Amino acid sequence: MTIGVLALQGSVIEHLKMIKSVNKKIDAVPVKTIDELATVDGLIIPGGESTTLRRLMEEFNLYTPIRERIVAGMPVWGTCAGLILLANRIEGENPCLSVLDIDVKRNGYGRHSDSFVGEGDFDGMYVNMVFIRAPYITRVGEGVEVLAECNDRPVAVRSGNVLATAFHPEMTRDNRIHKYFIGMIDAKV
Ligand code: GLN
Repeated sequence: MTIGVLALQGSVIEHLKMIKSVNKKIDAVPVKTIDELATVDGLIIPGGESTTLRRLMEEFNLYTPIRERIVAGMPVWGTCAGLILLANRIEGENPCLSVLDIDVKRNGYGRHSDSFVGEGDFDGMYVNMVFIRAPYITRVGEGVEVLAECNDRPVAVRSGNVLATAFHPEMTRDNRIHKYFIGMIDAKV
């Protein structure tokens, strides 16, 4: 199994390390080109800055191929900025990939200095959740499953092959959400 991490900007190395920590036999590769994208069974879109990420995605000609792979069923996981890029609606902006029926509000949790570690249940696992200028999920569409809440807000959702978390599991030592995503890919390959 090969898992890619979109490597244009953001917390790329952290995700690659986490995947390796789950299972050394899994290939964890940075994705910057269409050819690299073609080799992966699943893709992580990391946290970072969604405006920068979407601009670079266009510049590297990755927008259309990524969207096509997701629509064709490739498992994808967006963390924080990645979640914003997956959403059908972004308050005050045009949507990007539009493959997940949620509405989001960027920087809902405030500024960098408002970053915090929350905790809560993710699909039956109690986890710490690192929020860094994270988006609010302001609406969850029908058929989208809420996997985690924190302070009474949805913070992790899934719709079929699309997983999204407003927080950063790659910033902790707990690789169980990476394991969950690998399970989504395992169910496909
Ligand atoms: N605030 C960033 C954005 O709106 C996301 C922050 C993050 O990914 N940690 O794109």
